[in-house]
Amino acid sequence: MSVAEDDSRAGGPDPYDGRLRRQAAVALVLLGLATVVAAALTTPWRVLTGGPPDPDRDFTVAQIARAQAFDAAVSLSSYLSLAITLVFAGVLVATPFGAHVLARLKGPWWLRVILGVVVLTAIVELLRWPLGVWAETLMRDYGLSTQDWGSWTADRLKNLAVEVFLTSLMLVALVALARKVRRWWIPAAAGAFALTVAASFVYPVVFEPLFNDFTSMRQGPLRTNLMAMAERDGVPVEDVLVADASRRTTALNAYVSGFGATRRIVVYDTLLRAPQPEVELVVAHELGHAKKDDVLHGTLIGGLGAALGAILLYLVFGALRRRTGVTSVADPRAVGAVMGLMTLGSLLMSPAQNLISRHIEARADVHALDLTRDPATFVAMQRRLAVTNISDLSPDAMEYLLYASHPSSPERIAMARAWAKLNGVPVP
Ligand SMILES: [Zn+2]
Repeated sequence: MSVAEDDSRAGGPDPYDGRLRRQAAVALVLLGLATVVAAALTTPWRVLTGGPPDPDRDFTVAQIARAQAFDAAVSLSSYLSLAITLVFAGVLVATPFGAHVLARLKGPWWLRVILGVVVLTAIVELLRWPLGVWAETLMRDYGLSTQDWGSWTADRLKNLAVEVFLTSLMLVALVALARKVRRWWIPAAAGAFALTVAASFVYPVVFEPLFNDFTSMRQGPLRTNLMAMAERDGVPVEDVLVADASRRTTALNAYVSGFGATRRIVVYDTLLRAPQPEVELVVAHELGHAKKDDVLHGTLIGGLGAALGAILLYLVFGALRRRTGVTSVADPRAVGAVMGLMTLGSLLMSPAQNLISRHIEARADVHALDLTRDPATFVAMQRRLAVTNISDLSPDAMEYLLYASHPSSPERIAMARAWAKLNGVPVP
């Protein structure tokens, strides 16, 4: 087959000779150490911690029971979905399935790469689709979702389109490099870092508008108070945006995204129904993220992680050649194995990401308390968020590891009480 011929020559006689592998391994260790040190130094490990979380103190028996029932129902569908993702990635990495699928595609190599991403993404998405329908049905039963099936499907397809676009971009670049350069891991690592930073920078202006409309918060006492609070905090904020989240959910949320010229503070329109002091506390938390440049730091560390992934891919791919039936990343049929490795890599990284994230979230909470000096409203806001969003009030160890990007609401409330004690403010 002509593909096999030109691929065997791409990237030199043997892209996996010992010297090249050693160089990549040294780079992996050095960059790995640099990433760990950067993450360790920028993570606020010693934020104020509260006493043991105590859901019974702040939530009624009915609220706790409802949260537990919702968690039990939703966890099952998310664990099953995770299992499908893992098994499919395992098949791509450990069998020639991906190569067989790609071998059926026709056209120039870059087109086969893109079609390969589309086909493999479509297969795993079809397998997960019924679980998505089930999860959405649960969200509606519990009153969390406000979508109909048309808009739910449109959301899901748009998400897939974004995923396919970014993955194709990465893989076309990767295969192109591997076809030209023997030490392709060097430009691939640099490219992975650059793409991560660029994607995070443009995310608020390119991708978020695909899913929501954003408008400036209208003039009034709330906006005036929020801008005054940002001013007092020394965080330059030109605008607070309101997202039309109510078209999708009843959940309450706010977030900061982007950095530099694209940085924005966004509140869900659903949140605006809460009492004004509680909205101010939510925004005070977001100002904490803005002030500490949490998005930028997270992006840079994510970029280092992506660069590490590119080097690791170079080193690991050689060991998989016999199993996947593909000799080199220069071969478009490698797309399946590369996608499988990327999925496994990002899943393996998520407990570390969540661990770092929980500390950063705790720091933003302390910032909100320092700024407002109002732990009573903080506790009221946490209760409202937890009850409205039907948050898991006592996540088990596995949920904490895999999904908890924030401390649980009872943990956040306990921290606010510790803050009050420490600062001589009445403990709510
Ligand atoms: Zn936050």
